Amino acid sequence: MDNISKQQRHANMAAIRNKNTKPEMIVRRGLWKRGFRYRLNHKRLPGHPDLVLRKYRTCIFINGCFWHGHLVDSSTMKNSECCKIPKTNKEFWVNKIRRNKERDKEEQRKLAEMGWHCITIWECELKPKKREETLDSIAFTLNHIYLQDHTKSQFYKPVEEEFLIAAEDDSKFSHNDVASV
Ligand SMILES: [Zn+2]
Repeated sequence: MDNISKQQRHANMAAIRNKNTKPEMIVRRGLWKRGFRYRLNHKRLPGHPDLVLRKYRTCIFINGCFWHGHLVDSSTMKNSECCKIPKTNKEFWVNKIRRNKERDKEEQRKLAEMGWHCITIWECELKPKKREETLDSIAFTLNHIYLQDHTKSQFYKPVEEEFLIAAEDDSKFSHNDVASV
C-alpha cells in the first residue's frame, strides 16, 4: 500500500522543508503577513526581480551573499565576512562575482530609469535572529516609498496595469504553513 520508502519520504520531507525556509519564501511569507501583495519573478523587467510590488513601484531582489558578493568591494574584490572567494580557481570566481555585481548594478540602474525603486535583501539578513527586524525594516521602507511617491505627485509615473494582480491567494499561507517555520 505504501510505495514510498522511508528513505524517499525522508528526502521528500527535506525538500519541502528546504523550499519553505529558503530566503525567498521567508520574504514572501513575511511581507504577506504584513499585508503586502506582490508578483513573482517578473520576466519582462530587467534582472527578473524576485518580487514586484506595483503599488509601491518597487522591485525586490533577494541575493545570495556569495554569488552577489555581499560587502565585497568591486575594485579590490577582497573577501568579506559574507563572501569568501575560493582559493582554487580564484581568478574564475573573482571574475564571476565581479560580473554578477556589475550586472546587478546595471539592472537596478535600468529599473530606476523606468521609475522603479529597488530593494536588495541579503541572505545573511534573513538568519533567524535578524529575520523579523529585516522584514519590519522592508515594510517601513515600502511605506516610506509610498508616502514619498504620493506626496510628490508631479513625479508620479504610472506603471503597467498588469502589476495590479496579486501573485498568490491567502490559502497558500495557512496557519500551519506559518507555524512550521
Ligand atoms: Zn551577507
